[in-house]
Amino acid sequence: MYTEPSAQADPREEHEGGSTPHRVQISERGSFAHASCDCGWFAPGRRSRDRARRDADEHLAAPEAA
Ligand SMILES: [Zn+2]
Repeated sequence: MYTEPSAQADPREEHEGGSTPHRVQISERGSFAHASCDCGWFAPGRRSRDRARRDADEHLAAPEAA
């Protein structure tokens, strides 16, 4: 399971917690899946969605690392 991103396009910045909102979504293309985030980060394509989700988890855990 993964979270479906909401289709809202709200131009206002969110200030929950006062930090940059990171919304990671998993995109699938063919047999590949890759994670991308609202902050502009994205992971390389993975052959499994689980792997892409792990990329997403790692990004959320350490957004500055990538
Ligand atoms: Zn991010």
